[in-house]
Amino acid sequence: MHKDIATPVRTKEILDKYGFSFKKSLGQNFLIDPNILEKITGFAELDQSSGAIEIGPGIGALTEHLARKAGKVVAFEIDQRLLPVLEDTLSPYSNVTVIHSDVLEADVGEVIRREFEGMERVAVVANLPYYVTTPILMKLLEARLPIDSMTVMMQKEVADRISARPSTKEYGSLSIAIQYYTVAETVMTVPKTVFMPQPNVASAVVRLKMRKEPPVQVKDEEFLFKVTKGSFVQRRKTILNNLQASLPDGKARKEEILAALGEAGIEPSRRGETLTIEEFGRLADALHPAFG
Ligand code: SAM
Repeated sequence: MHKDIATPVRTKEILDKYGFSFKKSLGQNFLIDPNILEKITGFAELDQSSGAIEIGPGIGALTEHLARKAGKVVAFEIDQRLLPVLEDTLSPYSNVTVIHSDVLEADVGEVIRREFEGMERVAVVANLPYYVTTPILMKLLEARLPIDSMTVMMQKEVADRISARPSTKEYGSLSIAIQYYTVAETVMTVPKTVFMPQPNVASAVVRLKMRKEPPVQVKDEEFLFKVTKGSFVQRRKTILNNLQASLPDGKARKEEILAALGEAGIEPSRRGETLTIEEFGRLADALHPAFG
């Protein structure tokens, strides 16, 4: 086995060789601890019949661990300066393809079809650039790609919101948006000391397992997410107050909102943060004829 990229000494050597300077604006905090990488790739449950998609390979710290475990790895990197570095550091691995692209602009579905033909499963594994965590996750989920799971490092505060359960202070529209598509679990918290440079915030790894079916069948998904967002605008207010403030002409249409809440079996005095996804689903369907 080759010497790990993700040790402080080797990372420094590589950075010096290429005169590389970190760009904070691209969320560049590289992992320098092989044990953490072993754990992350372990949570992703990869084998030779798996394809792995990485977002932001950096200098290849996680990429090489993926290359050792998965059948094939495709990594999207936005920073052109890293391309020659990756070509060098990943030269021992013949099963890695690096694509120079902003993942938010890329046609990931097409890449999966092209690169992972014949693979039994595809997993996303990444130490995400924190400034775009939510847009990246929502893009991949909304595209309903043939992906089995996503094992991703992110800011701990975002991880807490993503895996939050109802009636907790972290539970909100992000929890519902993600848990509508996946079963979400925070599998590990990670100290700042395993990064170079160290980020200002705490980090955690979340594993998202794709659901085959959503937890609730609704008439209109987009409207479900509108209702959910609208229900959390002012957390301390009741669901009735929030819906009146967020639905079109809601103030004047209190009776219609009350009727829908009644139909969905939800007390108007409850707060949005106490509603499960199933309850939001019923509520969205009940509101849909009048407000959808
Ligand atoms: N995987 C490496 C590691 O763990 O050491 C680097 C992770 S670093 C937190 C995030 C990486 O994502 C950087 O290499 C950065 O250049 C890249 N990146 C930032 N925004 C991106 C985007 N929109 N699309 C693709 N890569 C991006």
